[in-house]
Amino acid sequence: MTHNAQPTASHFVDGTYVEDASGTELPVIYPATGEQIAMLHSATPAIVERAMQSAQRAQIEWSAMTGTERGRVLRRAADIIRDRNRDLSVLETLDTGKPLQETLVADATSGADALEYFGGLAGAVTGEYIPVGNGDFVYTVREPLGVCVGIGAWNYPTQIACWKAAPALACGNAMVFKPSEVTPLCALKIAEILVEAGAPPGLFNVVQGLGDVGAALVSHEATAKVSLTGSVPTGKKVASAAAAELKHITMELGGKSPLIIFEDADLENAVSGAINANFYSSGQVCSNGTRVFVHRSLRDAFVARLTERLGNVVMGNPLDEATNFGPISNAAQLGIIESYIEKGLMEGATLAYGGSRIAGDGYYIEPTVFTDVTDAMTIAREEIFGPVMCVLDFDTEDEVLARANDTEFGLAAGVFTRDLARAHRVIGAIKAGSCYVNTYNLTPVEAPFGGSKSSGIGRENSKEAIGHYSEVKAVYVAAGDVEAPF
Ligand code: NAD
Repeated sequence: MTHNAQPTASHFVDGTYVEDASGTELPVIYPATGEQIAMLHSATPAIVERAMQSAQRAQIEWSAMTGTERGRVLRRAADIIRDRNRDLSVLETLDTGKPLQETLVADATSGADALEYFGGLAGAVTGEYIPVGNGDFVYTVREPLGVCVGIGAWNYPTQIACWKAAPALACGNAMVFKPSEVTPLCALKIAEILVEAGAPPGLFNVVQGLGDVGAALVSHEATAKVSLTGSVPTGKKVASAAAAELKHITMELGGKSPLIIFEDADLENAVSGAINANFYSSGQVCSNGTRVFVHRSLRDAFVARLTERLGNVVMGNPLDEATNFGPISNAAQLGIIESYIEKGLMEGATLAYGGSRIAGDGYYIEPTVFTDVTDAMTIAREEIFGPVMCVLDFDTEDEVLARANDTEFGLAAGVFTRDLARAHRVIGAIKAGSCYVNTYNLTPVEAPFGGSKSSGIGRENSKEAIGHYSEVKAVYVAAGDVEAPF
């Protein structure tokens, strides 16, 4: 069966699809079959300029509206997304290869949640009254930043676009969004829907391209803020470029998060947690708990039950709703994962499950579990961004805490135990932004999401995001005469 996902044009700028075929070609590959399903073009400097200028115009109009009016548009967009969930989910599956079983509940729906939540908050973005004596007072105004740039990774193209656009727009900003060159399709639909919901043309523009287009957007003089979801090396480049002009940033970067399973954990829940922490979206999730520390006394039972349950993986056509494990999003990433598996074997880890690529044109690889992993091994230190779980043994709480924190990353962490005091003690001592007790990888929009250390700066979602897409103006108002020294 052939698939065609060709959009009307490559970019969505100023309320309409636009094309400039002189831009570098960006073929879109369906990871399940390796077939080309669309051909887009990278944005030329002229397209970037049009996007930035129309965003500047739209932002003025948009920020003059009341928060409630802005919120109404965002909530309408959320409703349209929910109405079209199936079509959007199929597109997400074609764009990423993630199984429809997953995309139907995790992508457009999560995007709609963000638009609904921040739509609801938009009217509540207000300032404070601060009395300062003698009838004088200070009032504060929470103002938008202006034009924000969003740059996405390829694992959650719809969700990332919405998680960035929703708080940005709620605060009165405009956004120019560059999807990952690997998954350029879904954000275009969000741009279309926002206009349909009543957003002024130009408020949310989508321009395609590789890193050079991202860099051009970051350094554009009209850009007030950059929010990037991507790897740590890209984050360092983008943050440096933004810092050169003192622009605001949010960085959602990579991780190598610890999941600690104590001897008193509920085994079945711990195995479920470890599966969700490693194999959802074929392991292409930044917050994955890929270093699974299991207490030595529970280890054999844990590995036995885990490998038994991995027998229930249904790998295959992602558009078949029975499939629960899809291909890797792109061939380059598949190669990276294979080379990490080879390194794991070379460095002496034991392959307890999987490890092999599936023959054929799709980018499928088995869910993979390594045991006997030590802290120094490459597979335990570097982000693999694929379905590769490392099981590490431990004996004491102090030991596992020190080892869990011994990483440059600090995105997420999880603990499974029935001992509540220990759960909070351990999570309290772990340096990570998004933590879990007796579960893993749930990301409701109401909760802040983001990383510490090299995993990021700033937080997405929740009320926290409002602070990252606005700044405060303080206004001192005097009630009496002005005193001066001379
Ligand atoms: P990547 O860093 O290769 O690319 C991310 C985006 O940055 C792409 O759109 C790319 O075109 C753009 N880019 C590259 N160079 C640039 C430059 N110099 N200036 C501006 N933009 C540039 O990441 P990826 O491979 O697409 O995604 C995987 C990574 O993303 C993993 O490390 C993963 O952990 C991380 N990630 C993090 C989160 C999070 O929320 N923390 C979520 C998803 C993915």
